[in-house]
Amino acid sequence: MSWQEELRQRVRSREQLERLISLTPEERAWFARAGSRPESFGLNITPHFLSLVSGDPGDPIRRQCVPRVEELSFLPRESGDPLEEEKHRVLPRLIHRYRDRALILVTDRCAVACRHCFRRNFAGSGEGTVSPEELRAIGEYLAAHGEIGEVILSGGDPLSLEDGRLFAVMDAVRAAREGIVLRLGTRTPAALPSRITPRLVRGLARRRPLWGVLHLNHPRELGPECTAALARLVDGGIPLLSQTVLLRGVNDDPETLEELFRGLVSRGVKPYYLFQGDLARGTAHFRVPLSRGWEIMRILRRRLSAMALPVYAVDLPGGGGKIPLTESFLRGEEGDSWLFQSVEGGVFRYPKEEEK
Ligand code: SF4
Repeated sequence: MSWQEELRQRVRSREQLERLISLTPEERAWFARAGSRPESFGLNITPHFLSLVSGDPGDPIRRQCVPRVEELSFLPRESGDPLEEEKHRVLPRLIHRYRDRALILVTDRCAVACRHCFRRNFAGSGEGTVSPEELRAIGEYLAAHGEIGEVILSGGDPLSLEDGRLFAVMDAVRAAREGIVLRLGTRTPAALPSRITPRLVRGLARRRPLWGVLHLNHPRELGPECTAALARLVDGGIPLLSQTVLLRGVNDDPETLEELFRGLVSRGVKPYYLFQGDLARGTAHFRVPLSRGWEIMRILRRRLSAMALPVYAVDLPGGGGKIPLTESFLRGEEGDSWLFQSVEGGVFRYPKEEEK
């Protein structure tokens, strides 16, 4: 099956899903209630990702792609825009949060709708793909902002696009500023490995300097198809980093993460960040207390080389930006929150959430 055909065969309805797995009460309750909630984040799973799901209701792959009723409970501290990216949306499709980096919202499409997604307000929103006019405006912005040295292609997942449209976005960036480094943020090697075709890899290689920044959360995502896709990228000369989100019931133990990070390194991928969960609406059931995250990192530091160990980091709620979760940024605790200093100097809170 071609990747385009596999995309067409994605599971998007309860009826399709129930033909393949029997739903738990928590999953059934999501379907019963989500229909009347326009803000709910739709179902979307590739046949490949679904093939990794087991019948076990607690299966870590299943938790990442099959919605549960907990998603429909929003806490007051959660937000549709937990990183406050809207404040930095300098153009409809461009976010300029950090001085030397800008992020293009290439498309709202993804191969899989990850239930923990922090950009769920944009992913699958119907905003579609960046238009030629929007690309022209982005080019003008990049030409005028010489301080931007890296452009992140994100969304959504840019590899949901056909090669021609993807390369047009990259070429527009290059035309604006030749030396700019491209970062391709993608979950596709895990969700739709057939998308990593030799033609795609050749096109990416022609557009270096370019880094693939992959999103992988569990060692079972590194099956034979994903392994082959990663090998095509590595053999094609694309340097690869990975980002992992620390997720309750998916990878919140040192053994799972050790296996994942070792598996990545052995496939030529450098584990880059382990992210603490953002305060995105309806994701409380995924968040792991920081105290547990620190404990896991202490254990991993004893077991793994620096090459295999990612930086444990958080995007501070309230727009504080990304910081490593190390002592030098911790300013103490107050009530039910940890206090952190941002890189720019402000103090921001992150909830303890120890009760969950
Ligand atoms: S692929 Fe990325 S943008 Fe799309 S749903 Fe998953 S986490 Fe969100």
